[in-house]
Amino acid sequence: MTLVRTGDAKLIRELNKAIILDIIRKQGPISRAEISKIVQISPTTVASCINALMKDSLVMESGTGVSSGGRKPILVQLNPNDRFLIGVAVNASKITIAAFNLYANVQKKITHSLQNETYSDLSDFLITLLQDFLEDFDQKEDCLGISITFQGIVDADKGVVVYNPKLNMSNVSLKDKMEEALHIATYIDNDTNGSLLAEKGYGHYQQAKNLIYVTIGDGVGASVLVNDAIYRGYLGGAGEFGHTTINFNGPICECGNIGCLENYVSWQTIQSRIEEEMANGKKSTMSMWLKDNEQLTIEKFQQAVLQEDPLALVILDDVAFYLGIGLVNLINLFNPEKIIVGGELANDNPYFIRKLNEFVLKHSLETHTEKFAILPSSFGADSEVIGAASVLLHDLFHSTI
Ligand SMILES: [Zn+2]
Repeated sequence: MTLVRTGDAKLIRELNKAIILDIIRKQGPISRAEISKIVQISPTTVASCINALMKDSLVMESGTGVSSGGRKPILVQLNPNDRFLIGVAVNASKITIAAFNLYANVQKKITHSLQNETYSDLSDFLITLLQDFLEDFDQKEDCLGISITFQGIVDADKGVVVYNPKLNMSNVSLKDKMEEALHIATYIDNDTNGSLLAEKGYGHYQQAKNLIYVTIGDGVGASVLVNDAIYRGYLGGAGEFGHTTINFNGPICECGNIGCLENYVSWQTIQSRIEEEMANGKKSTMSMWLKDNEQLTIEKFQQAVLQEDPLALVILDDVAFYLGIGLVNLINLFNPEKIIVGGELANDNPYFIRKLNEFVLKHSLETHTEKFAILPSSFGADSEVIGAASVLLHDLFHSTI
């Protein structure tokens, strides 16, 4: 890793600060001299960047290291708790807002259900929710920023939600709206890209350079890491895995096409199937919820799977079959090292992950499945909101992808 030397002076300084901050995060406590050796630039420049980072309360001194002859060096490390950031994960059924420290640890979290609610302008509602959430913090200026993830197509550079049919959003300049109302820097990205950044920055799969993250819950999406960079496509729309066609004789999708994968594996499909099968007299432990007029949720379906409810298992097997077809296509097309399957339907669901592995091993090219595995997300139920926070953290630490 070397520092940036040419270009706009202010930008270079900001980038170099971020690169040094990332080294301190990963290798601290560390001396200024060691950092200078890693980034191959003068100790004076490194020291000046670290002074600026200490002034921003992002870094602090912490004890002394081993002397190599002279004075013992003073070590620096991340100052994780003086500043905070906010991650917001928005999906079709809920909004999760969490405050994080610099190690991406959740400090405070709230969830707001969107079930049975429609908003003509979700951005106004988001602003109100965030204003309430920020009430609990004495020093709002300690907030480094807000990062928000959405399903669908997001232009991360411009901060625009381009296409989200489930929330009825198209070309919403959310970044501008949020910054104008809250006066806090705002970042926006696709939810699955956020989850992939979380895995690369903080998860179990940081070393992998060719990775695919697939989310399955009330939507289906994929984020593709190619040679350590997210493949975003020409207009930022890459990864619309849920809208790849698997059956041209299938149902019409909300995108206008026919037989998209999403219509076979999303939670809405599963929910309708459960209701239909039980209306036709199929026995299931899930009937007790329907009888009590309770909402059938993904969590309750997961519970039924864990209890080996026969109907829940038959339905999940079908979902694994259809998602498996899509995953085989991804494996043969991209030859990834691993595919991480996250999202509410895959979290804490080892049975589902096993079924997917069995299917893809049987149907993918043999050359592509050697040492390959489908694995669960590193963060379980918090993966969505940690993914949201990772969009900002990735920028703050100028991580290598
Ligand atoms: Zn579609």
